[in-house]
Amino acid sequence: MKINAELVLKARKRKCWSQEELAIASGLNLRTIQRIENESSASLQSKKALASALEIDIQDLDYEEIRMKTCPECNSMEVYQYKGEVETATISGELLPKLGSTVFSSAKVRPVVCAECGNLRLYASKDAIEKMKTSKHWGQF
Ligand SMILES: [Zn+2]
Repeated sequence: MKINAELVLKARKRKCWSQEELAIASGLNLRTIQRIENESSASLQSKKALASALEIDIQDLDYEEIRMKTCPECNSMEVYQYKGEVETATISGELLPKLGSTVFSSAKVRPVVCAECGNLRLYASKDAIEKMKTSKHWGQF
């Protein structure tokens, strides 16, 4: 899966680590670190190991996975994303019904807002998407 390689590089430099040192700190091998930084691609396991070694939020490593950089409404590049996920129940009732991780929680989304025109987009969390694929309440068109 895609990873924000730029952030990995920045976080590694901030710690003044070489690629070798990051490999040791994360428990990944050097070739894996090189591939991640060069090809912006990493497994979920590698992502978790990196996030923990570099003390960054694993969601920040996903940053570039979501195609949100320009506004679909006005093409502005001034687009902001919330650096976390919010429960849909806090937005308006339950926006993505039956997709919460438990019966008592609602599905999570990540809001993205255009600073030019206010266009608001919501991206379903990966958990919700996984759940949707097998839910009897949801079906493909
Ligand atoms: Zn816009």
